[in-house]
Amino acid sequence: MDTDEFREFGKAAVDYLADYTDTLRERPVIPNVEPGYLGRLIPDEAPEKPESWQEVLGDVERVIMPGMTHWNSPQFHGYFPSAVSYPSVVAEMLSAGIGCLGFSWMTSPVCTELEVTMMNWLGKMLGLPEQFLNCTKGPGGGVIQSSASVATFVGLLAAKERTTRRMMKLHPDWSEADIKAKLIAYTSDQANSSVEKAGLLGSMPMRHLPSDEHCRLRGSTLLEAIEKDEREGLIPCYVVATLGTTGTCAHDCLEELGPICNDKNVWLHVDAAYAGAAFVCPEFRHLMSGVEFADSFDFNPHKWLLVNFDCSAMWVKDSRYLVEAFNVDRIYLAHEKEGQQPDYRHWQIPLGRRFRALKLWFVMRMYGVQGLQNYIRHTVNLAKQFEGYIRNDDRFEIVTEVTMALVCFRMKGDNSNTRELLDKLLARRKIYVIAATYREKLFIRFVVCSSLCEARDMEFAWKEVSERATEILNPVPQQDVAVMSAIESSKEPATNIATMIKDLKIEHGLKEKAPKIS
Ligand SMILES: *Cc1c(COP(=O)(O)O)cnc(C)c1O
Repeated sequence: MDTDEFREFGKAAVDYLADYTDTLRERPVIPNVEPGYLGRLIPDEAPEKPESWQEVLGDVERVIMPGMTHWNSPQFHGYFPSAVSYPSVVAEMLSAGIGCLGFSWMTSPVCTELEVTMMNWLGKMLGLPEQFLNCTKGPGGGVIQSSASVATFVGLLAAKERTTRRMMKLHPDWSEADIKAKLIAYTSDQANSSVEKAGLLGSMPMRHLPSDEHCRLRGSTLLEAIEKDEREGLIPCYVVATLGTTGTCAHDCLEELGPICNDKNVWLHVDAAYAGAAFVCPEFRHLMSGVEFADSFDFNPHKWLLVNFDCSAMWVKDSRYLVEAFNVDRIYLAHEKEGQQPDYRHWQIPLGRRFRALKLWFVMRMYGVQGLQNYIRHTVNLAKQFEGYIRNDDRFEIVTEVTMALVCFRMKGDNSNTRELLDKLLARRKIYVIAATYREKLFIRFVVCSSLCEARDMEFAWKEVSERATEILNPVPQQDVAVMSAIESSKEPATNIATMIKDLKIEHGLKEKAPKIS
């Protein structure tokens, strides 16, 4: 492909994306395909001869879109958001086009230096303690990882390094292998599955401690577990506290956990993958009080801060432990980074790294702190609107206190109605929500995800939920349902509907009577 063709192709792709975004509200959020659908649409072998970009781009709508779950649709309310913003999309495109790998300062000085500066901007925007920043004299600093899962794992490896060194100093006669075999980690039963995975990958047993009635991990629970393990000769090493749990957006009590971890020399990692974005607004920062006790902190701008996947922002108080754990050249702790730039390859697992700081730079400049704060507040207000609908209808209940933009709700009574509601919602594919459980109670997680969401989308979702609840509680005879859905899916003008009803009723063997159409 030559440059002229690239110009045309690129511009056409941007136009396609703009149209895609403008039509997202009309596209069904959940695809209507069965496993294996793609095999019928594309050949089994790569083409022998080159095809034109027009043919390929044309097939995006024909082949790709039918199998797409539209994460940025305003009807997508599952999981947590996957951020999309135009400034970030363009930065991603530039980064791809430039195609540099910034694994050391020399391999592209701007990759490292922009990342250092952006992580400082972002850390200040969140109100993180100075020790985490790269602009202070100390060994702290920020780095962009690919995901929160990776950050949790990287934290574990740094913790392992720090504890092992400390124990070897304390007990010169113990072997490194013996020490490592005794290390143990803790998190709550509400932690993300990636925390369990970090323990597995890092060969460190991870205890899932019980959370309190608000789904938070408490200090007394942790202390009890640590002391019990110490009595049994184990070595407590790593704690992962969550701010904004995946299930219910609960916040572990950092103010209680922090001093215990510091006192016991246990590395405290804060996983704020989703909720961290909200700390750009001062009114949410009380939820992270105690963060000053943490050794590392991570959140995903790629979830709720308008930066496209991937971009996970991780800060550490003492980067020397990362460098120690990951540096295959083995420099020693006495080494100060003062006045130097970090070599980010020692702060991460892979060698290569993409130029992701560009996305942060574009987004922070084009929204400004105020724009980002407004965005968070707008989302939270929409969640409040949806919460209001649920609270005002006594067929439903809110399961846990609504924090940020996650509403956990269910139909009152045993789980069967909520199960049926979920089944109906997913079968109709009008909105995407997912199930979770709290103390044996099945509930629905409703998250305001898309940056396109407006008040009318909350109304739409509520209407969809409320009507399905009506169907469950006041079922209409099966035949009437068939008639109604036939009418609903028909594109006939209103004048023909009366005839259609008549025909359908004959077809379904029903007597003529006015159908209930709400
Ligand atoms: C989403 C989420 C994760 C996983 O994030 P990735 O960036 O996909 O690895 C981890 N922890 C919590 C609390 C999350 O909400």
